[in-house]
Amino acid sequence: MIAILKPNTTAEQQKSFTDWLKNQGLDVHISNGQFQTVIGLIGDTTKIDADLIASLSMVEAVRRVSDPFKSANRKFHPDDSVIDCSGVKIGGGNFAVIAGPCSVESEEQLTSIARDVKTFGCDMLRGGAFKPRTSPYDFQGLKAEGIELLIKAKKETGLPIVTEIMNANHLDLFEEVDVIQVGARNMQNFELLKELGKTNKPILLKRGLSSTIKEWLMSAEYIMAGGNEKVILCERGIRTFDSQYTRNCLDLSAVPVLKELTHLPVVIDPSHATGSSKYVKSMALAAVAAGADGLMTEVHSDPINALCDGAQSLTPEQFGDMMNAVVSVRNALKGIL
Ligand code: PEP
Ligand code: MN
Repeated sequence: MIAILKPNTTAEQQKSFTDWLKNQGLDVHISNGQFQTVIGLIGDTTKIDADLIASLSMVEAVRRVSDPFKSANRKFHPDDSVIDCSGVKIGGGNFAVIAGPCSVESEEQLTSIARDVKTFGCDMLRGGAFKPRTSPYDFQGLKAEGIELLIKAKKETGLPIVTEIMNANHLDLFEEVDVIQVGARNMQNFELLKELGKTNKPILLKRGLSSTIKEWLMSAEYIMAGGNEKVILCERGIRTFDSQYTRNCLDLSAVPVLKELTHLPVVIDPSHATGSSKYVKSMALAAVAAGADGLMTEVHSDPINALCDGAQSLTPEQFGDMMNAVVSVRNALKGIL
């Protein structure tokens, strides 16, 4: 249930109202928007008398929200969320590009890619230190050393860093990480999500391989229910029947659907979606046109020798070409989206 307050409601009136709601055993989510304040009621609202709340002098309207996701719901928070990733903003008209190798392989590899992507206008550096590989015999990442190398690259370039967590026991290692990624395979690792809900770092939550949009939003809700509202959603392609020419199927319709359902920013990862560097630029441009708040692409200076996901990695020059095209499409769309 949400209660929209009248514009002239005082802070004292708002507090006495929210105190009363808390006394009824509910959690309260307050959204102080540009035009209105929305009080979201979280918990068992079945016993709450909506007519009684509607009759209060400071209440303009009351609506029941049947969706199971509350904090992530746009009805609870009508304005777009803008998430500050150590100075890089994303959402609410702020567009950000995250790029870097699939895996951190060495200091030389990472710093050279970091310098190049920065030159081409990238906003944040990505790189996997803990890698969720299908085979236990494949490269599993440099782990703690990989995070150290990311921190070094951040110090050199000033780019905030994004890297994946697989186990909440590793959280101590993520102290200087700016954005923590939850990979597709862990989207429903609820214990991990609950732990991330206790942190105050932005979380890039990738969509599960075959997760519905509702399941994805419920995973965001797990993080937000713990008190961490800084969730960025990342569509990275879903499993369908045809994997012959593309690795996954990029669900671009998720962008407008999510824009309607949630206030959280949406990023598109065309690299894991297509699995081929040949298709990354087209899908990146389509994502921009669909209204995405950002992109995440894999970049490697020597894709053929990459330890992971070389086929889908752009070279720095290809990344630069994609970035020029992204800027052109964003300019062409000004005032339209
Ligand atoms: C990654 O970003 O390198 C990754 C493993 O992605 P996903 O979880 O989407 O497969
Ligand atoms: Mn990868």
